[in-house]
Amino acid sequence: MSIDKKEAQLRDDICRICAMLYSRGLIRGPSGNVSARLGEDKILLTPGGVMKFDLHPDQLIVVDMNGEKVGPGNEINRNLKPTSELPMHLEVYHRRPDVGGVVHAHTSHAVALTTAGFSLHTQVLTEGMLFLGVVPTAPYGTPTTSELSDSIIELIPDHDAIMLPYHGSITFGHDVWQAFSRTEVLEQVAEIQYFTSQLGEEKRLSKPNIEKMIELRKKYRHNLPSDPKLLED
Ligand SMILES: [Zn+2]
Repeated sequence: MSIDKKEAQLRDDICRICAMLYSRGLIRGPSGNVSARLGEDKILLTPGGVMKFDLHPDQLIVVDMNGEKVGPGNEINRNLKPTSELPMHLEVYHRRPDVGGVVHAHTSHAVALTTAGFSLHTQVLTEGMLFLGVVPTAPYGTPTTSELSDSIIELIPDHDAIMLPYHGSITFGHDVWQAFSRTEVLEQVAEIQYFTSQLGEEKRLSKPNIEKMIELRKKYRHNLPSDPKLLED
């Protein structure tokens, strides 16, 4: 696929993903941001301060790996700025050459759990273990500041999804669709974890069964160095 065709496809993909994030209540108002790696040294991402449910592909912005806008832009995005959470996205791309897409959403159930002091427990859902593995909660960082991007730096190499307390989630994947699907699964894990807590005490899956899921993560190449922590409570 030519570079132009790839960029056009990615622009469409990101707009579709933003519309789905909005329709599923994973982002509200102008919140949330999505990016994709464009070649070796560029990132395509959503602009800040705009509603994401009906983004036009030309509203998306291209930046270099330092976060500087590339080229003159087009008639539609010339006066738009990249999302204020761009530094958080750049930290992921710099530290994970395997990552091709990043999604930051305001996943309500997951935020509610972490705000109440619980860690996300992906062991409540087989797909949660398979696609997410361990989901840590970062230290709190004020949005739009380097506090937020700094808060996830140490967690990026060993995880594909991180909770940002009082705020939202960030997920990454080999492409933007995988990053999106991880956001969806993360919120489903949180819903199930919450409902389970309302119904009674969680009946923990046995360690041998969790070990089998860790093996499945290897088989499907989702494995990460943090996987053994799935066996811990
Ligand atoms: Zn946010």
